[in-house]
Amino acid sequence: MEFYDTIHDLVWDDVTRSIYEKTDTDVRRALSREMLTVEDFKALISPAAEPYLEQMAQLSRHYTQQRFGKVILLYIPMYLSNECSNHCIYCGFNHNNDIARKTLTDEEIMEEIKVIKSMGYDNVLLLTGEHPRAAGANYIEHAIRLCRDHFAAINLEVYPMKVEEYRRMNEAGCNSVYIYQETYNENRYKVYHPKGMKSNYKWRLGTPERVAQAGIHRVGMGALIGLEEWRTEMAYLAMHLKFMTKNYWKTKYSLSFPRMRPAAGGYQPNFLMSERQFAQALWAFRIFDHDVEISMSTRETSNMRDHFITLGVTSVSAGSHTDPGGYAHPDRELEQFHINDDRSPQAMEAMIRAQGYDVIYKDWDKTLR
Ligand code: SF4
Repeated sequence: MEFYDTIHDLVWDDVTRSIYEKTDTDVRRALSREMLTVEDFKALISPAAEPYLEQMAQLSRHYTQQRFGKVILLYIPMYLSNECSNHCIYCGFNHNNDIARKTLTDEEIMEEIKVIKSMGYDNVLLLTGEHPRAAGANYIEHAIRLCRDHFAAINLEVYPMKVEEYRRMNEAGCNSVYIYQETYNENRYKVYHPKGMKSNYKWRLGTPERVAQAGIHRVGMGALIGLEEWRTEMAYLAMHLKFMTKNYWKTKYSLSFPRMRPAAGGYQPNFLMSERQFAQALWAFRIFDHDVEISMSTRETSNMRDHFITLGVTSVSAGSHTDPGGYAHPDRELEQFHINDDRSPQAMEAMIRAQGYDVIYKDWDKTLR
């Protein structure tokens, strides 16, 4: 059975209603449990849990320190290409947006590697749009091979692939694949992804299963906040995480739920999530799953990132550029979106250490490949 089969009969609005109907008793029951159900998780993200945020923050800190220690992993994205055949209406790389397009050559990738290494990083996230001709599986596999002698950990955030292709990426040296569903609302999915390969909801939804089947060490999952009701997105994400940890227990999991940022095309979010609500979701996930990694990107403000270091996050990016070639030759015209926190890795590290936490630049070693 695939994850899709388990949610196919659910009605989005019913799930939303069931979250809003949670009571104070449901919240207190959830907070008293060591192992939570999805229903408990729904209670923690419901409005009824708002008076319990302080308690949730303390629990989140406790479980995070118990499982991960006082350590934050720093990672950095490297955009390989901004060419894309998809039409995601919220994205600056949308096929219809009239922006300069670029796919890095081998020499340009090596230039990026050099700059990123000089910043101290040993953990890189490679990103592309979805453009099989410009940046298909052969190109991405080759890019991993160019990076493998330079980084302890190589992670991918690219288009959904077949199991055989993920096996090739694994063989080349990829440690993790991050694939965000954007929205779990199947009826609304096509509104945001009207054309191109990404318009296939079911193919995208099944990607974490294919990544795990290919034996890749870690799968990153998440939703883009701003498209649909955030509480319902989080409930589906919790169901997805539960399904994956039960059926693919050898794989490690990471979550992210970035809030939408301004991008070329000027798309405005339909649903807003406040910083308090972001905190509620993050702490609910930590209490729901003590082992899951949670990352926070430079989309969020520096204030907010400072605040969450000790409260449940396990990895953060710093010094990021979202334009291909942006470390060696920054070009804002090529950006996917504008980042919020533009501090250097050194400034980020100093802030983390000032809070009594250690910083690591890798959580994997080349010899483990
Ligand atoms: S979100 Fe990804 S797939 Fe969609 S247009 Fe942007 S780069 Fe392409």
